[in-house]
Amino acid sequence: MRAPCCFTLAPPSQGRPPQPPPSGGPASPAPRRLPGGGGAAPGGWRRLLTAWRPRGTRSGGPRAGPCPPSATMSTTFVSVLVTTHRTVCLDDEYEWKGPFYFIQGADPQFGLIKSWAVGDTNNGDDEWKEEIKLTEQAVQAVNKLNPKPKFFVLCGDLIHGMPGSQWRKDQERDLKNVLKNTDQNIPLVFVSGNHDIGNAPTRETIDNYCKSWGDDYFSFWVGGVFFLVLNSQLYFDSSKCPELKQAQDVWLNEQLAVAEKHKCKHIIVFQHIPLFLREPDEDHDYFNLEKSVRQEIMEKFHKAGIKAVFSGHYHRNAGGSYRGLEMVVTSAIGCQLGEDTHGLRVVVVTDEKIVHRYYSLDELSSQGMEKELLDMLAKQI
Ligand SMILES: [Zn+2]
Repeated sequence: MRAPCCFTLAPPSQGRPPQPPPSGGPASPAPRRLPGGGGAAPGGWRRLLTAWRPRGTRSGGPRAGPCPPSATMSTTFVSVLVTTHRTVCLDDEYEWKGPFYFIQGADPQFGLIKSWAVGDTNNGDDEWKEEIKLTEQAVQAVNKLNPKPKFFVLCGDLIHGMPGSQWRKDQERDLKNVLKNTDQNIPLVFVSGNHDIGNAPTRETIDNYCKSWGDDYFSFWVGGVFFLVLNSQLYFDSSKCPELKQAQDVWLNEQLAVAEKHKCKHIIVFQHIPLFLREPDEDHDYFNLEKSVRQEIMEKFHKAGIKAVFSGHYHRNAGGSYRGLEMVVTSAIGCQLGEDTHGLRVVVVTDEKIVHRYYSLDELSSQGMEKELLDMLAKQI
């Protein structure tokens, strides 16, 4: 694979002009501001990021195909996927070149361990030392992996403090301080959870999330595989922002049309709330989507040929399948609500299948991936 070209992210005040696409793609739209890029203060989050800066991305409408090979990667300390018009196309990434893998984590949820222990999940989240340690361990485990994963996705509930709550800013700051130690060659992908934008999100809570972590829904290509990141709160309760739910629905239909037209190897979805935990027709509760909403989405995903949905939210491992669509529910990096260990999921994508395994943080940092998975990666097309 041709390596994307790299450059150092300039401080905001010295705004670097957009680079021409390396291979003649259309002119780039203005790059989206980096997540959390509010101030120009030295040492701010903005300047600690590395961004995949898409060049020549199109607006993702039904006419839009995969972008021409024209992405660049900017480099400082940490990679974060930064989208333009909710789509990212990286240099040559829409072509299949052989097996690869990525890491999925969920629910670092800074503050839940303490609030769960004291029995006050509304206001008991005034400490998160344990989550800091666990997330540091997760980052170190990911950094040690060889070969490197294509990316590290965090499937929501980054922090525990709900919008407007007391400790939210401090929790976000501390999480970012831990994540900035992620290997700069392993881009981070963020998914919004109910604690990030509220159980019934509003335009304001979603806007605030986007400023801090990037778009709440977007798509990207890696190695011929089409990935969709969805805002599952819009399926859970969109009563305070019905227009945003509608916008995501329209966008999703457009994306699925693009996927169909361009024959990607697989389509994989990331969202915080699972469609279901074990059975497609199980009763609705806090941890899954309402049955009629779920049914509609499952059928849409099945028809579009989506292979797997990866989620978190349950703080336990679970999963099932619906007509060939696999639902994967991954336990938390942070607080466990069942018998699982704090951990991460390794997901290997081959031309035929998607194989995944959950590892405890201890296991992954001390032993890495199993030989069986490494062997799958070694198989070339
Ligand atoms: Zn959640």
